[in-house]
Amino acid sequence: MDALLDSSHLVRAVARTRSAWRFHVLVEAANFADLRRYLGCARADVLVDDMAERLRQTLPEARVRAVGRNLIELDVEDDSPDRLVATMLAACDAFKAPLDLDGERHLVKIVIGGAVGAWNADEVLLAEEAEQALASAREQDRPVTQAIRALPRDAMKLAEELSVAIDRGELVLFYQPKVHARRQEITSAEALIRWQHPTRGLILPGDFIPLAEQAGLIHRLTLWTIEQAIRDAEVMRSHGYDLRLFVNISGQLLSDDAFVAGACRMAGASGVDLGFEVTETSVIRDPESAIANLQRFADIGIRVAIDDYGAGLSSLAYLKQLPARELKIDKLFVTQLTSSNRDPLIVRSTIDLAHALDMEVVAEGVETHAALALLTVMGCDMIQGFLISRPVALDAFITFMREDRHRRTPEVTRSSFNRLAATWKRA
Ligand code: C2E
Ligand code: CA
Ligand code: CA
Repeated sequence: MDALLDSSHLVRAVARTRSAWRFHVLVEAANFADLRRYLGCARADVLVDDMAERLRQTLPEARVRAVGRNLIELDVEDDSPDRLVATMLAACDAFKAPLDLDGERHLVKIVIGGAVGAWNADEVLLAEEAEQALASAREQDRPVTQAIRALPRDAMKLAEELSVAIDRGELVLFYQPKVHARRQEITSAEALIRWQHPTRGLILPGDFIPLAEQAGLIHRLTLWTIEQAIRDAEVMRSHGYDLRLFVNISGQLLSDDAFVAGACRMAGASGVDLGFEVTETSVIRDPESAIANLQRFADIGIRVAIDDYGAGLSSLAYLKQLPARELKIDKLFVTQLTSSNRDPLIVRSTIDLAHALDMEVVAEGVETHAALALLTVMGCDMIQGFLISRPVALDAFITFMREDRHRRTPEVTRSSFNRLAATWKRA
């Protein structure tokens, strides 16, 4: 039994936030069918109550609930994820002594599965993990056994490190300009997070944002991002560049009222021009609260942009209701704009649709002059992409802005937008 418990691959944990971890443990009577045959249905039906009572006595700190005729749920909060194993062992040990059933002593054989997550981990995910753990414990066909499902060790370690990284200042924001196509000027930029890991080097958001979301760290991480963007905007302003900075907001935060209140407080107190990029799919998840919260952002002057438009499920019904001022066409359509027959049609109709809804259109992922030219002809309002600049650190961004201003000599502004983009590209 111990060998089963201490195998390193068995622990499922997401991340530590604040102090508490949550254990979700399922305890099942494996020999329920046998006991029922012996005791009869009526007595067997209340067996689970006796089991629950014994678990309450053994683990007084646990919330114990009978959820079926032979199944009990335990929820425990703890400071250490490692104690899941000890908790499960204690639950098993509780049934080493037989239960007294109508004056007869019967041994209840236990199968047990458990999962651990951060205190605010997704409840459904945690429940599913525990169910899978229970299923694999059953498969092992032992009278008393337990399985604890595992996130890859590496991901678990990274999630723990990320929690610390936020406080240690290992996260940085890079900036990528958005260029106004007609006015040919940079009026805003998107903040894109990077993690300067002490040993793994620069980690891109795709490799840690999903983990932050799963581990319940995204709330804290995003408040840090907003705070840092405000600080960076002030630095930019001190160099003479007054830009609106866009921050990416994960979908799950749109129904997190505490986050929304915190973000509004920060943004409202800053005097900095901010924008939030949210994907349309994140609105579809819980439209009522997402729309209400986006409205709260819009009401205090935060510009809302719909990110990755066209990449996920799009719903015109929601689009119309969103207090968004910008629509960002997903880069998938933009990078293939000049090589596909279908994508130009989609882009063109998206631009028209956005304009009809009084939104400005941003094309992201603009990498070529051909795409830039086509988008300009189609009436796209703003351009973002490697053709103009890759996302760069604050210092490099300020240098880029300075050189861009320099380039705006009369003969350059007289030249076509294509030529201006060419100059940018060579920079
Ligand atoms: P996104 O919001 O769609 O950001 C655009 C991504 O496209 C960025 O990747 C950017 O570097 C990349 N990109 C920009 N121009 C071009 C181009 O011309 N061609 C191509 N192929 N790619 C281009 P990055 O920085 O790796 O970010 C990936 C995703 O991570 C972002 O997608 C966003 O969803 C997320 N993310 C980034 N920063 C944050 C953050 O602070 N918070 C949250 N919640 N998510 C973030
Ligand atoms: Ca974005
Ligand atoms: Ca995007």
